[in-house]
Amino acid sequence: MQQNVDLQPLNSFGLPARARWFCAVDTLDTLQQALQFARVQALPVLVLGGGSNILLREDFPGLVLHMQLRGLQVLEDDGDTVRVQVACGENWHAFVSECLAQGWHGLENLALIPGSVGAAPIQNIGAYGVEAGERIESVLVWNRDTSAVEQIAAADCEFAYRDSVFKRQYRDSRIILHVVFRLQRHAALNLSYSTLAQALAGQQPVTPQAVFDAVCRIRRSRLPDPAELGNAGSFFKNPVVSAACHRELQQRFGDVPGHAVDAGAEAPVKLPAAWLIERAGWKGRRLAQAGVYEKQALVLVNHGGARAQDVVDLAQAIMADVRKQFGIALEPEVQWVPAPQGEDARDC
Ligand SMILES: Cc1cc2nc3c(=O)[nH]c(=O)nc-3n(C[C@H](O)[C@H](O)[C@H](O)COP(=O)(O)OP(=O)(O)OC[C@H]3O[C@@H](n4cnc5c(N)ncnc54)[C@H](O)[C@@H]3O)c2cc1C
Repeated sequence: MQQNVDLQPLNSFGLPARARWFCAVDTLDTLQQALQFARVQALPVLVLGGGSNILLREDFPGLVLHMQLRGLQVLEDDGDTVRVQVACGENWHAFVSECLAQGWHGLENLALIPGSVGAAPIQNIGAYGVEAGERIESVLVWNRDTSAVEQIAAADCEFAYRDSVFKRQYRDSRIILHVVFRLQRHAALNLSYSTLAQALAGQQPVTPQAVFDAVCRIRRSRLPDPAELGNAGSFFKNPVVSAACHRELQQRFGDVPGHAVDAGAEAPVKLPAAWLIERAGWKGRRLAQAGVYEKQALVLVNHGGARAQDVVDLAQAIMADVRKQFGIALEPEVQWVPAPQGEDARDC
């Protein structure tokens, strides 16, 4: 247990913040002792993985648990399906790379996403047409209410677009220890995402390695490397609106992109938040030391020396402008610590 620990190197935005108490958790025993300490001292607890999806708005007044459980265990391999259990502290991209090396397929599209394996189920990480929840069989958690390990089947994780039960009702009560994945030895590649399909056009045969390489190439060309420019990836979720709302926007603005999330003419439509932000004039703009990334309007960046308030001011200015121009409430994808109070929730 350490006191007054600097969290700036532990969040990919590179924002200054300190933890009153800090514990590197590498065993279940350590976790139990740390939670007991927090209980006795009546401290709030923040669970931290790689810090690549959080906005630390201020110093944390309680105990930060830095999850560092390690290990990968093959539970079953029948020559077709491989079930593998991975500890929360493993690096996500290293795990995806290991899967590729072992010939376990299904996660290639999720290469190069920063962060830990333990955080993957939290917002059901997704990219290039695949979401982690599609490959997760179950999640092993520490239940803080019952002080016991429990296994939650994927069907009960309520995986949805950048969402799961861990972001809502289990937010404060469950700490993810291990994730069990179900992967395939025979590759069934997902090339449904047009950018990826275009990047692989003309390649025959398309192998999992080719998909992995293409995903890494696209990501490196479009997204800022947090080691060079602090950021937390997509700052906002893509809003989902009714088909009628999409039609109305098209009448008013002509070329509003979007794709139906279900079958049927009246299916809700997911709009690219990047388009809304760019159209509202924010791409490449700066407020104090925070800015909107010049190549991708969905990413907010720390131009160096930004304070959390700079990022918050920028995010709120963008949200207000998008609401004013399009009548749409953007919802942050990044987890704000502490959570925002009373922020807008009006849809069009
Ligand atoms: C450049 C860049 C690109 C990105 N691209 C994508 C992308 O394509 N798709 C995508 O979905 N995301 C993307 N992200 C966001 C981020 O990488 C993911 O959300 C990732 O899963 C966060 O992992 P982490 O370990 O850093 O989590 P953290 O930021 O440490 O934590 C995120 C949340 O999960 C909680 N948490 C973390 N570990 C645990 C645990 N073991 N138990 C319980 N709660 C826990 C934290 O309390 C916090 O609420 C990107 C981020 C960056 C910086």
